[in-house]
Amino acid sequence: MAKRVYLFSEGSKEDRDLLGGKGANLCEMTSLGLPVPFGFIITTDTCREFFEAGNKLPSLLEQEYRVALDLVEKRMGARFGDPENPLLFSVRSGATVSMPGMMNTILNLGLNEEITEGLARRTGNPRFAWDCYRRFIQMFASVVLDANGASFEHELERYKAAHDKKLDVDLDADDWRAVVRIYQTLADVPEDPFDQLRMAVRAVFMSWHTPRALVYREMNNIPDTLGTAVNVQAMVFGNYGEDSGSGVAFTRNPATGEHKFFGEFLFNAAGEDVVAGIRTPLPLSALEERLPAVYQQLFQTQALLEKHYRDMQDIEFTVQEGKFFMLQTRGGKRTGRASVKIAVDMVGEGLITEREALMRVSPEHVESFLHPMVDPAAKRDVIATGLPASPGGATGRVVFSAEEAQEQAEAGHAVILVRRETTPEDIHGMKVAAGILTELGGMTSHAAVVARGMGVCAITGCDGLNINVASGTATTRDGASIRRGDVITLDGNTGDVMLGDIAKVEASDSDDFQVLLSWADKYRRLKVRANAETPEDAARARELGAEGIGLCRTEHMFFAADRIDIMRAMILSETREERQGYLDQLQVFQHDDLLALFKVMDGLPVTVRLLDPPLHEFLPHTPEDIRSLAQRVNKPVAKVEEIVSGLTEVNPMLGFRGCRLSVVYPEITQMQVRAIVSAAAEAMQAGYRPMPEIMIPLVVNVREVRLVTDIIDQCVREVSSAMSVSVPYRVGTMMETPRATLGADRLAPEVEFMSFGTNDLTQMTYGFSRDDAGRFIPKYLGKKLIDVDPFVSLDERAVGRLMEIAIRESRSRKKGIKYGICGEHGGDPRSIRFCHNLGLDYVSCSPFRVPIARIAAAQANVGLVPND
Ligand code: PEP
Ligand code: MG
Repeated sequence: MAKRVYLFSEGSKEDRDLLGGKGANLCEMTSLGLPVPFGFIITTDTCREFFEAGNKLPSLLEQEYRVALDLVEKRMGARFGDPENPLLFSVRSGATVSMPGMMNTILNLGLNEEITEGLARRTGNPRFAWDCYRRFIQMFASVVLDANGASFEHELERYKAAHDKKLDVDLDADDWRAVVRIYQTLADVPEDPFDQLRMAVRAVFMSWHTPRALVYREMNNIPDTLGTAVNVQAMVFGNYGEDSGSGVAFTRNPATGEHKFFGEFLFNAAGEDVVAGIRTPLPLSALEERLPAVYQQLFQTQALLEKHYRDMQDIEFTVQEGKFFMLQTRGGKRTGRASVKIAVDMVGEGLITEREALMRVSPEHVESFLHPMVDPAAKRDVIATGLPASPGGATGRVVFSAEEAQEQAEAGHAVILVRRETTPEDIHGMKVAAGILTELGGMTSHAAVVARGMGVCAITGCDGLNINVASGTATTRDGASIRRGDVITLDGNTGDVMLGDIAKVEASDSDDFQVLLSWADKYRRLKVRANAETPEDAARARELGAEGIGLCRTEHMFFAADRIDIMRAMILSETREERQGYLDQLQVFQHDDLLALFKVMDGLPVTVRLLDPPLHEFLPHTPEDIRSLAQRVNKPVAKVEEIVSGLTEVNPMLGFRGCRLSVVYPEITQMQVRAIVSAAAEAMQAGYRPMPEIMIPLVVNVREVRLVTDIIDQCVREVSSAMSVSVPYRVGTMMETPRATLGADRLAPEVEFMSFGTNDLTQMTYGFSRDDAGRFIPKYLGKKLIDVDPFVSLDERAVGRLMEIAIRESRSRKKGIKYGICGEHGGDPRSIRFCHNLGLDYVSCSPFRVPIARIAAAQANVGLVPND
């Protein structure tokens, strides 16, 4: 039978899985010779055994921990349950992955009236002893016996009022004894310390399943099956008197990453008082002043721990009667900027390697470098605060509607869109806004989700903001008012709303971040490209490190105001000649757009996808819009109506789109290829090195590919000879249909690259419509029918399997094909890891996710598990 109980002297930091993070670190500190109050740990295996047995403690467990307890007594020189020399315990949870504050803790365990009297005698401090006992009763009752904690607070308040006492410190030993008597009427706490211990162990195991722990695990992807360890540790007391106290500290600043010891301390206070924030803690300099020797010991300990763990540590300590004790150490939580600074600094200090530094930064941390931030050093006059829904800082004029936002933006002004809440109707305003501020909505509201997706700074749930669109004002809870046109600044990292233009630190200002990205480039194998159509997006992507365009959706180029009507007229054409006339006009636009793109992406591949969406997407659908279009293109309304309704499809996403358009309208494809090649030729004549890649969408069989390839080759020959330039180009296909992936061996000889369009491939593999799945996916997630939204994170089991088959079988037919991914998954770190393992050559994602993809690609290659 496996050992269920470990003394602190029997484990090490490598035993996280078995002993939990907290327990493993207590063991490690013990073996480092640090002053850790001794104790033992009941393993996470025992927790799982407990659940498997229907929430029953193993019959031999008590016998096992009593042996350990004897040894703890010897080491501490006190005895559990002995009134003459009592040993008290703290009993705490400790999962493998840290879940701060999510589970239960019981302090001062081992007290009853008789032992409390003994403690009072032994310490000569009856007030302290009775205070400990009342704290224990309250904790035990609410944590173990499920009593209502508030009723204890209530009784204490009543007692104080009745005895004319204001603060807890005004209560003396007799008062606390009287409070204990009252508490005893509220809960039936067992007298026997061993009964207390058994019940507490059970309660800690049970706390694994409290609703808040469940929610936390769900949010942080922690498996429900792990279970928690139980740490049973001898108590030390920070509330012993004025030469005692409790503190928490970080070995470096967790907000900025600055290499400076940083912490807080409360004199004459138990650890929970510091965490609860009832009294304002003092800086550590106060401890240094009053107890310099203790401070020295603390300082040396934190330095030793950081060096030992080779990471920034978050520590908890207690001072009892001038004696220093370490209670906890763990990797400290930090902001994105701090995580990068610390990782880069530690490489400089020789503490960690570049590879390790890369693994210390989560892709989410990287987000904070992609947006300008409000300068932390700037003076800020906060008029309201909401939820930091989307990171970054933004300044602009206040507008109260999407229409105003658009007007002002068109006039060249930065705007902050202020709304009660946003809906999809507001998208056009959100798109042009520098920032978004809403009165309602949480972190997953429409405004929050959309803003994050767009990379626009947003604050939601700004409670107390009262918006009056008619009068063009908003007032805050404190009475400040914002009028239409006022300039305000939003801090999307803190949720602060400020008047005026507050200075920003530019996103790319951090040298540390650039250093980290250069390491990412050194250690990754996957190339990273961007999905972009405009020269602006392409330039941004290149600046952020994109090594090419993996997907240029040419249809986006036809939506601009100066060409949409030509596109529509082309679609509405009734003869080939008529259509050709419009196509000639469109070719000029397409040529110019691509020329600009090739110039920006000089020397890098640009994958241009042939027209993909169903044609009806370009056409109006309301009677007024149809009427007005008919007038503009000079056609009878009835004719336009007839063509529009003729293009209507029952299942447009499975309909007349992709290369099916090339089959029916080869002239559209010819126009596009001519534009691509002539733009590339012109770029070459101007001294650029364009690398066009022509991509065929929504392929299902090899004959389609041959048909389109023939059109492409023919057009390339024509244009090249007309312009006397030999344009290098590649032809490839998107892999978006299950049939294409399963027939990849047949496609292989015809193409030079394959790019997985995992948006459509997911849609078709699941049979979940991309456009409608949002209605039921949250329910699927809620009912645990799926673990993640397959449109966000690649489904490895089926979609991934199709990809794997496609790669394996096409590769066996032809060497040298390049493989990429250009669906949304190309910017998702988990999917990127999968793509790396599949052996893809590149991922392509939206420009502002490029740095995240660079880091994720490096992490996939370095292959270590990221630190939590
Ligand atoms: C895809 O289907 O994954 C893809 C990239 O194409 P689109 O999103 O344009 O359909
Ligand atoms: Mg697609």
